Amino acid sequence: MDDMLSIGEFSAQSGLSAKMLRSYAGSGLLVPAAVDPSSGYRYYSTAQLREARLVALLRQARVPVAEIASFLRDPKPETVDLWERSIDLELRSRRQALADVRERLGFARMPVAAPARDGGGHMPHVVWGSATGVGRVRTSNEDAVRAANHLFAVADGMGGGGRGEVASAVALETLNAGFVHEPTHDGLIEGAREANRAVWRRAEDDAALAGMGTTLTAAALVSDDDWRTLAVVNIGDSRAYILEEGQLRRVTRDHSVVEELVLAGALTEDKARTHPQRSILTRALGVGPEVEPDSYRVTPTEGDRLLLCTDGLFNEIDEEAIADALRWGAGPPEVAEDLVRRANEAGGRDNVTVVVVDFV
Ligand code: MG
Repeated sequence: MDDMLSIGEFSAQSGLSAKMLRSYAGSGLLVPAAVDPSSGYRYYSTAQLREARLVALLRQARVPVAEIASFLRDPKPETVDLWERSIDLELRSRRQALADVRERLGFARMPVAAPARDGGGHMPHVVWGSATGVGRVRTSNEDAVRAANHLFAVADGMGGGGRGEVASAVALETLNAGFVHEPTHDGLIEGAREANRAVWRRAEDDAALAGMGTTLTAAALVSDDDWRTLAVVNIGDSRAYILEEGQLRRVTRDHSVVEELVLAGALTEDKARTHPQRSILTRALGVGPEVEPDSYRVTPTEGDRLLLCTDGLFNEIDEEAIADALRWGAGPPEVAEDLVRRANEAGGRDNVTVVVVDFV
């Protein structure tokens, strides 16, 4: 019994109590390697320590013992994915229940600790989260997203065959490089112009990339007014919205044929969402050597929530549903994920990307 451990030694080395080990053995889990026929003492082999560690971790993840036993007989990555998804679902429903309690009692939303980043100095605190999904029809995701260092941006690439992915990624990289260099409202506008030039040059230089383009919607806290102003730039039909005191307001205007029809009163917002020509843009990055972004200025106050999104969101769910999702008391990462899920449930016909930013 050279590499055999008594139940006491095995318990000490595995971190599982003797009582747990006896109950697991009853479920066919971590069955002793040997039992002394005269004394009834249980012995474990050192090789079982690895399994014991897995059992301890799976118990920590609150996986039922019976499921652990069958998993260890036939471990599959899909099973772990499934457990993880069920944790997400459970957390979501528990958070939703607490948000409902808060709403029924008229309590204000609590600031949510999330992957926040405090810029220090006079920068207001922002908490953000983002999510992106390929949807249920497309095979690749040509959207790009950036949410860091007080610069938030989405880009919806187009061109197919992987070109859209290049266009949206180049646009966001270039915008970021420009903005870091000059973190002002003008810096953001110039960054958007430079992003267009970068996409245009790449398409000119590489025949395989000809015809690619992208939208760009970005928002950033800028140094102009002591970091209290949110500068927003837009080219194309991705959007920025802001939820102020529970009311959703669209900040940006789309550069699309249907938006012009809506503005001219020839089309309703609702009809625009399903119009066959809704994806025809009047302005985009990569189409010509120069393009002028629209720019807006927002002064967010505590409790406001910013949303940046690609058209895969608002073509699937209407603004009422978007507002409803944004009013949820959960943190930005959960809200972002929830928005993508809603778009997918409504059809998921396009890539969908969202950034949610709270001002706290
Ligand atoms: Mg799209």
